[in-house]
Amino acid sequence: MLKDFLAQIKPYLSNIPSYVFEKLETPDRAVEVSFIVKIQERETVLKGYRIQHNNVHGPYKGGIRFSPFVSKEEVNYLAFWMSIKTAVANVPFGGGKGGVIVDTKKLTQEEIEAVSRAYIRAIADIIGPTKDVPAPDMYTNPQIMKWMMDEYSKIVGKPTPAVITGKPIKSGGSQGRIEATGLGGFYILESLVRDYNLKDVKIAVQGFGNAGYHFAKFAQEAGFTIVAVSDSQGGVYSENGLDIDKVKEYKTSTGSVINTPDYQHISNKDLLTLNVTVLVPAAKEDVITEENAANIRARYIIELANGPITLDADTMLEQKGTVIVPDVLANSGGVTVSYFEWYQNMHNEVWSKDTVFNKLKDYITNAYNGVVHTAKEHDVSLRKGAYIVAVKRIADKMLTNNG
Ligand code: NAD
Repeated sequence: MLKDFLAQIKPYLSNIPSYVFEKLETPDRAVEVSFIVKIQERETVLKGYRIQHNNVHGPYKGGIRFSPFVSKEEVNYLAFWMSIKTAVANVPFGGGKGGVIVDTKKLTQEEIEAVSRAYIRAIADIIGPTKDVPAPDMYTNPQIMKWMMDEYSKIVGKPTPAVITGKPIKSGGSQGRIEATGLGGFYILESLVRDYNLKDVKIAVQGFGNAGYHFAKFAQEAGFTIVAVSDSQGGVYSENGLDIDKVKEYKTSTGSVINTPDYQHISNKDLLTLNVTVLVPAAKEDVITEENAANIRARYIIELANGPITLDADTMLEQKGTVIVPDVLANSGGVTVSYFEWYQNMHNEVWSKDTVFNKLKDYITNAYNGVVHTAKEHDVSLRKGAYIVAVKRIADKMLTNNG
């Protein structure tokens, strides 16, 4: 799979030697660990991974997921994507990913803490503020990051907040991390509006979680009309625009956005094909497929979710002329503010939310401009443009290091 991906980019980077592409197909290091944790009074052996793909730009960076479906292949693939994402965002990190095969829904908080600490003990030798800096991912959260930081700090004998990001603010986390992904997507929206001179912009957002809600909130505050939002149970629609605070309040009290008073119900399927200017998939992967791609009417798509468009659907949309801002760029606000968190920890600084937001705007806008420039230069989609930018950045550094 990685081989196919890299083969797509190779023709545009003909001056980069083949061995660089070959190197990117395999991680620098793949570590498999096992450890014992007491679960329901029984000593249980759990398995986990930490895969370090590439670090030419800085410490490996990437989340740790706790899931029964974690596999070495998946973690390996995700570590590669982190190298691409950090390179597109132009933050001084490489790519890594970790995971533990465990179903946290069946564990108590004490057991989750024990798993978190045991996993960090198992990988402590290969992580560290200048080596590899993990973060949250599926079914891990700020509290888990705090336990992990604490365990690592005990091992090295001093407080080491920079070993991990995504911590609670009072434990060294950054202001603005919660809003980062949605806000980054909003800055992309602003860039699209500027570049394509968009007027009377109507937006539909699929997914009303961390990424989707914050995107919708910032966009509405800036005067854009959000006509639809949804969660896993369905969505709400209003031609004149939704009041995002009202929808959020309703979701907080009932568990879902559906049935928010005064708005029409809309299915997730219909939301995707609404006649809007910008469609923002912000829920999950593979929601736009060859089944519905022909019916997508939005001319612009901002991929806040990871991988919301399948390969076939992407080709169909590209042929239709849909402008798609790819996930590696559109949702890179999260990893960018993780970099800010690490930077603040390393330099003993605490930035205000305004500082974080302003710096994020600079990073995301520069990343967007770089991708647009490269896409134009090679006459390719923004997705391919982003991949070219990333592989070129990594390759240039590898060649400098080897030269
Ligand atoms: P979240 O769990 O906070 O929210 C997910 C939302 O999607 C929820 O509202 C849920 O109800 C909804 N949803 C789930 N299945 C759905 C379906 N079939 N149809 C419609 N809605 C559905 O998650 P999040 O952190 O907002 O992440 C959303 C996406 O963004 C994921 O793909 C994630 O990988 C990506 N992402 C998030 C971040 C981040 O910092 N939060 C960073 C990078 C990428």
